Amino acid sequence: MLSTTQRINLDAKKTYRKVNSMFPKNLPYIETHEAMQAYKRLMFHFGKKQIYDKRRGWITKRPHYDKKPRKCWVCLSGDSNTLSRGWRRLVHDVSHYIHDWRFPNSSRDHNIAQAKIEHEMAQFVIDSGWLNGILKTKPKPKITQDEKRYAKINNLVKLIKAWEKKESIAKTYIKKYRQKLKRLRPTMKLDDLII
Ligand SMILES: [Zn+2]
Repeated sequence: MLSTTQRINLDAKKTYRKVNSMFPKNLPYIETHEAMQAYKRLMFHFGKKQIYDKRRGWITKRPHYDKKPRKCWVCLSGDSNTLSRGWRRLVHDVSHYIHDWRFPNSSRDHNIAQAKIEHEMAQFVIDSGWLNGILKTKPKPKITQDEKRYAKINNLVKLIKAWEKKESIAKTYIKKYRQKLKRLRPTMKLDDLII
């Protein structure tokens, strides 16, 4: 007979095995930017937590996720299929963050709850098509020298127009205030004013 703890551990192990076999054998490489995107989106999607606030009642809270991606999440060469780096490592680490966020008082060890989160996350990564590279940065279209010059010209024209507008507004105000001043003190020589 297995004890409850043993049975739970066995279940956790089964779930980990499931997660490990979910990912394709030839996992793609993962870039820094891609890792950052995946991390943020996983934290956003899985980090929702309802907490009770005395004043506001039940509210939804999300964890902070302003960390930089870990170096071991990025994998640009060599074996992309190990648990220690790349996609597998990213999903595993982020599932720990989410588990700690959802169950702050629980032990930090591997357990069935954490395994289940990891399982859901792996499925989410696969279903979202991230392994097909959709989170990769798209190459920017090349801008020609002519286009660059044209953009600069456009910008200068815009700046001139904006300042001309301000100039005319300024002139209107100056005229208005000069007239007011003249009414209050008609003898004053307004042309001597330095503005
Ligand atoms: Zn772990």
